Amino acid sequence: MSFASLGLAEPLLRAVAEAGYVAPTPIQLQAIPAVLTGGDLLAGAQTGTGKTAGFTLPLLHRLAAAPAALDKSGRRAIRALILTPTRELAAQVEESVRFYGKYLPLRSMVMFGGVGMVPQIEALQRGVDILVATPGRLLDHHQQRNLDLSQVQYFVLDEADRMLDMGFIHDIRRVLAILPPQKQSLLFSATFSDDIKALAERLLNRPQVIEVARRNATADTIDQFVYPVDRDRKKDLLVHLIDSKQWNQVLVFTRMKHAANRLAEHLNKHGITAMAIHGNKSQGARTRALSDFKSGDLRVLVATDIAARGIDIDQLPHVVNYELPNVPEDYVHRIGRTGRAGAEGEALSLVCVDEEGFLASIEKMIKRTLPRVTVQGYEPDPHATAQPIQMGRRVLYGGARNEGSGGGGGGGSGRGPSQGQRGGGGGQSAGNRHHGHAGGGGAKPAAGSRPYRAAPRGKSGHER
Ligand code: AMP
Repeated sequence: MSFASLGLAEPLLRAVAEAGYVAPTPIQLQAIPAVLTGGDLLAGAQTGTGKTAGFTLPLLHRLAAAPAALDKSGRRAIRALILTPTRELAAQVEESVRFYGKYLPLRSMVMFGGVGMVPQIEALQRGVDILVATPGRLLDHHQQRNLDLSQVQYFVLDEADRMLDMGFIHDIRRVLAILPPQKQSLLFSATFSDDIKALAERLLNRPQVIEVARRNATADTIDQFVYPVDRDRKKDLLVHLIDSKQWNQVLVFTRMKHAANRLAEHLNKHGITAMAIHGNKSQGARTRALSDFKSGDLRVLVATDIAARGIDIDQLPHVVNYELPNVPEDYVHRIGRTGRAGAEGEALSLVCVDEEGFLASIEKMIKRTLPRVTVQGYEPDPHATAQPIQMGRRVLYGGARNEGSGGGGGGGSGRGPSQGQRGGGGGQSAGNRHHGHAGGGGAKPAAGSRPYRAAPRGKSGHER
């Protein structure tokens, strides 16, 4: 199946050919015809599947086929609004809009917080067909009457599950309230939780529902290892690994912003160029960090899950979970940063006793026990006991043997490690902990254990 056979206009086919795409991805095969027919769409797909082109191409086709809408003062009025949870994703989506639409007479703009309002106001005044925005800044502009959304005909909610995770539900409701009721709406989400279904019910009118397999879960080229280590030796082990393995481009994940900052500082102190990327950084700093990392000027990018969302870095050779995520699905998402597009990748997780419950939940979800690798000089204390993990105001119990915590009775969070612990997974990893100890030392996989390569593409359409 080719892009041409999907019925897209010639200027779009030209841009697609320039992008080097040979054939549509599965989500594009389904989403493009669905959007071209004009109906609403509920799509289960995430970053990495080609979803952006999946909605951008048919939207551009439809926009180009109709005359521009004009506002009261004769300026181009916004006909398409695309909402994204993060600034990075907004910038990338708008870049795609511009690229795919390069041979069409359409104007787009990106709008997010953390940068001055004035250039955005000026751009709006010049007239815009397609606006890509994060919700907060969009509402700020609306409140200040800088922006007229009364002629919006197409509305896309991208990564809706992340928007809800990030607490944007009220903002989304406010945006919906100011959009015209008659419009074509598309909702993209990696998961179909009850909250997403409720949102879809409110927003979408008899939508076509499509789902594609989560690409991350199907990557079969990622070698995954667990490095058991004490909590206060993680920093040094990471320096040791980066130095001894001579890694030059590593994406490292922490759970929290302050841990990302502290770790980046530690790495820099030890001669490894590193930057933390998270929501508290200015947009300029985030963009610079990302481009330095992509160009190879920066060896390590330390990111939190939310900051990493939407960053499109293909074919990363190494991903390190400096801290395991308390949500097992985030593990799959994190490691999906490596081995993309068929490239080889390696994902290492530094796991201390506090996180054994998290690890058990992850292994339960991916239905594998990951090989353990112990590095000489960094062997974990076999008598260490788990401590609770502070996540902002929440306290999570991620340890398998967290004495004094009520036996791993779950964290203070609805999505916490309690998922695995409820399932009884938390207890089993204590026995695993030193399993696979590489007696001879060195960072070699344990004798007899082979790197786990994620199972080949599954048939299930479920995302998480
Ligand atoms: P997305 O899921 O939209 O973030 O896209 C992930 C990556 O896939 C981006 O780098 C796109 O440029 C790329 N991509 C999108 N569609 C195709 C295609 N049909 N063939 C090859 N690569 C694609």
